[in-house]
Amino acid sequence: MNYKIVRLNTSLRTSKTSSVLIIYTGGTLGMAYDDSGALVPFNFGQILEKIPILSNMNIAITVISFPEPIDSSNVSMKHWSDMAYIIYENYDSYDGFVVLHGTDTMAYSASMLSYMLQGLNKPVIFTGAQLPISAMRSDARENLMTSLEIATAKINDEPIVPEVCIFFNHMLLRGNRAKKVQSVHFDAFESENYPPLAESGIVIDYHTAAIRPLESNKKLVNRSKLDNNVMVLKLFPGITDKIMDACFAIEGLKGVVLETYGSGNSPSEKWFMQSLERAIKKGIIILNVSQCNGGRVIQGRYETSKELLSVGVISGADMTTEAAITKLMFLFGQEKTLEDVKSKLMIPLAGEITA
Ligand code: ASP
Repeated sequence: MNYKIVRLNTSLRTSKTSSVLIIYTGGTLGMAYDDSGALVPFNFGQILEKIPILSNMNIAITVISFPEPIDSSNVSMKHWSDMAYIIYENYDSYDGFVVLHGTDTMAYSASMLSYMLQGLNKPVIFTGAQLPISAMRSDARENLMTSLEIATAKINDEPIVPEVCIFFNHMLLRGNRAKKVQSVHFDAFESENYPPLAESGIVIDYHTAAIRPLESNKKLVNRSKLDNNVMVLKLFPGITDKIMDACFAIEGLKGVVLETYGSGNSPSEKWFMQSLERAIKKGIIILNVSQCNGGRVIQGRYETSKELLSVGVISGADMTTEAAITKLMFLFGQEKTLEDVKSKLMIPLAGEITA
């Protein structure tokens, strides 16, 4: 990968006490309007012109830009490997990392990075904006400045938030618990099943009990092998066995996140269960997550989910769809046997599920 590296030359550079590597992947934050009024990525070397106050921060900032910044709707496994690789390669040189990323798939990328970067003991803060940095009322400035502060925040010389997070509109959320819930307002992300890790107001209020503790005995490992032979199947009243069987017949398909109703309920009709059973017998893993943003799957609570349990559907408990589908991709890439994938699905790899 051919990165573009920009070291921001700030006047106070020599006296900086901490350092952050910004990874600019694209998204609205780093865009500007061109002559035709369309949003295009701007040259990140000009960031100081957009946010002059950055030079007064007591932080040495380096920016690595994707050669071709992307709209995050185009994010792929290759981009995830690149992000993880950049962090891994530069891990010892910085106090923390800020990933500038489009909001559309930020929760997927933050989930995936939380699995790939095992043994992480430094902050990796994803952020972005609903309006480009050059727009008058942009949320980019506040999101970026606070993310930089969080990425370097320490107590007793140890990072306060040594995990992969999303900071957006005053809230710091665990990355693999977050969901994009708004496409217009500034409060774009929510984490219904896990408390915020911090809230920023006049001060940044860290909720230390919710933050994953530092595991200083662990070394960072970049687990980059992934497998995308997976899919999400969202139930809807009216779904037929024809549709389900067609999905399960996809060549090479290994895992399906089944988005069910409420606390993990599905039709209890015979054809439905038989279709699932056939897929499971073929070796396809079916992981049950709820269509609701909050709460959890409890297979067996209602009659309509009892049978899912008996045909071998795995409960995704309180995982988000974003955390579940990336976890499947990660585990199919990493584990050797189906049994290993199945057992690891139910235990937290990076705090994504309440066991
Ligand atoms: N479509 C944009 C993206 O996700 C939206 C954003 O940046 O928030 O890249």
